[in-house]
Amino acid sequence: MDVSELLDGLNDKQRDAVAAPLQNMLVLAGAGSGKTRVLVHRIAWLMQVENASPYSIFAVTFTNKAAKEMRSRVEETLKTSAGGMWIGTFHGLAHRILRAHHREAHLPEAFQILDSDDQIRMIRRLLKAMNIDEKKWPPKQISWYISAKKDEALRPKDIKAYDVNEQMFLNVYTAYQDACDRAGLVDFAEILLRCYELLKNSPTLLRHYQQRFPHMLVDEFQDTNTIQYAWLKLIAGTGGNVMIVGDDDQSIYGWRGAKIENIRRFLTDFDAQTIRLEQNYRSTSTILTAANALIANNSERMGKSLWTEGSEGDPISIYAAYNELDEARFIVGKIKTWLNAGNALQDAAILYRNNAQSRILEEALLQEGLKYRIYGGMRFFERQEIKDALSYLRLVSNRQDDAAFERVINTPTRGIGERTLSLIRDCARNESIPLWYAAKALIEHKHLTGRAANAVNSFIELIEKVEKVSIDLPLEEQAKQAIHTSGLMAMYQAEKGEKGQARVENLEELINACSQFELPNEEEFASPLTGFLSYTALESGEGQAEEHEDAVQMMTLHSAKGLEFPLVFMAGVEEGMFPSQQSNEESGRLEEERRLCYVGMTRAMEKLYISHAETRRLYGQEKYHSPSRFLREIPEACVEEIRIRTQVTRPQATNRFSATMSHAAFEDTGFNLGQRVLHTKFGEGTVLNYEGTGAQSRIQVAFDDVGTKWLVTAYARLQSL
Ligand code: ATP
Ligand code: MG
Repeated sequence: MDVSELLDGLNDKQRDAVAAPLQNMLVLAGAGSGKTRVLVHRIAWLMQVENASPYSIFAVTFTNKAAKEMRSRVEETLKTSAGGMWIGTFHGLAHRILRAHHREAHLPEAFQILDSDDQIRMIRRLLKAMNIDEKKWPPKQISWYISAKKDEALRPKDIKAYDVNEQMFLNVYTAYQDACDRAGLVDFAEILLRCYELLKNSPTLLRHYQQRFPHMLVDEFQDTNTIQYAWLKLIAGTGGNVMIVGDDDQSIYGWRGAKIENIRRFLTDFDAQTIRLEQNYRSTSTILTAANALIANNSERMGKSLWTEGSEGDPISIYAAYNELDEARFIVGKIKTWLNAGNALQDAAILYRNNAQSRILEEALLQEGLKYRIYGGMRFFERQEIKDALSYLRLVSNRQDDAAFERVINTPTRGIGERTLSLIRDCARNESIPLWYAAKALIEHKHLTGRAANAVNSFIELIEKVEKVSIDLPLEEQAKQAIHTSGLMAMYQAEKGEKGQARVENLEELINACSQFELPNEEEFASPLTGFLSYTALESGEGQAEEHEDAVQMMTLHSAKGLEFPLVFMAGVEEGMFPSQQSNEESGRLEEERRLCYVGMTRAMEKLYISHAETRRLYGQEKYHSPSRFLREIPEACVEEIRIRTQVTRPQATNRFSATMSHAAFEDTGFNLGQRVLHTKFGEGTVLNYEGTGAQSRIQVAFDDVGTKWLVTAYARLQSL
């Protein structure tokens, strides 16, 4: 690409930034104004005009997804590979430096990273050893303390405890750090701090990196924390070519120590020029007007204006759902319409405040056979030992589960070799029967003999035994049986080191998860076990699309930063959810939540739907929620309400639904509101509400003894009284 092409497709302000002489620069601008585009073009400009080598470029951003995207945008612009460049996340790049100089950093060559779960487990073990009550000193809180201190570049020796409480935290921090150092382990915060200390204490190394990287670029700078800032400043040295781009209105990681004031600090520390971009290329003018109006409610802003030449577009649709199920169904319905109009699923994104919200949405998508992909989801149920244990349970629950059979027939090893396995597979294929029955048939007909037959037989007996002894026991007993009788626990106990210990603890956590598991609706599953298994399958994302498949994109608002989608849904925009409960309690947090809302809205290019539910069941509790205050901050003229907006006062349960009750719903259930009914298990109760039609129809009953439940009408077998 020649130079003029590099500047084509940029407006004047963007060109000023891309083609600026070598200098320290801040590009400050609102969402969708082309900051990331400027950064990418600047890299190309440096290479083509300033003759910078790819090896001299150091570009940092916040998420792996954003880093990947930046690399491919650079390659597209340059039309060559960006191989030699260092483009990555803060943690990724710091980790790279640590790996290259592990000895100087006092780490073993194969040092391991502790994720936040590992970290909490480690703290729990230390508390036990130190005889500290973990109820009084919750490991999670301690891990937050430690990370926060590391983010501030503070080692235990640098901290003076404020009171006895902090002294306790500090003692654990010290013990934790010793344990990590002895075992050669680093947590996330440690990666940056350790890298920072390494460079600071080794002038030769520091000089090497300072000379190697004369060109530094940072995207999403508004979310840097103290240690990240110090680290960048150290590597930049006295060199004068650092470009940072950011938007103070999109700072959303204050809760993790990000400092918006780093933008101002940069201006003084680096004596930098500021370039402002003001034209938005992403969203319709309606979406932009709404987002601008919302963020105007914040007081601490650096001040920016944002306009667009784009069309007015559709109004923002706001949907007041009855409950979270209704909300999910609404969203999925709109996505189907979108798909049927010839659009791609991947152009639609569902954004939510908390990870826990995704499950209901996933179920609704699965029910309609729509593929989805979750970014940054839960990982617990994807772990090796958990998948092993679940495979035993799956086989106990369903002998036809071939994937589970394959996974555990020889885990732990029972001397069942590849030859025996292929006999079983062949038989299954030839007879079109599940592997389980093939194995049984081979033994019965003596096609398997000797050691192989014994080994397979003992596996079959094992599964049957687990089922027999635990079938009537609570879920956690079934899990315990499966994990212990199968020998899984013993196998992982014998595994040495940190990983083995973590696996044992994960298995214990699985038993714990079983004991806490509440069936979302007992009517829908043959047994608690099948209910639990389908829950874990969803949790581990088995319904998720493959890499190449077209799929709806689902993620938290935090992970959506920097991205854009033609169609965006923001779900659960309710007081107590968004803004979150905690944001009422801490000063500054409400403004951060509003910035998060601004980030969410400005992801949308063409159409934005915002939904909230009147009642929502979350973490096992059903609660009434009023619409988020953020909805009131959006100008009426930008909005179309799909149902009458909910009153802020809580409606009475009895007459609340009569106004909105549809005749179809009544016909589907055959019960009147307020009618007394009898359920075989839950006893007597009163009908409160219903929703959906046909097989989807559900009925809400307030039972006298067991509280209010939603039941699938078709399975509930209610009798009129
Ligand atoms: P965010 O604050 O959300 O990270 P951003 O400021 O980084 O946004 P970009 O993602 O770089 O914005 O750009 C937003 C969209 O506008 C992209 O699709 C980009 O390709 C497009 N765009 C940016 N500048 C121009 C331009 N001059 N002409 C046409 N399209 C542009
Ligand atoms: Mg960007």
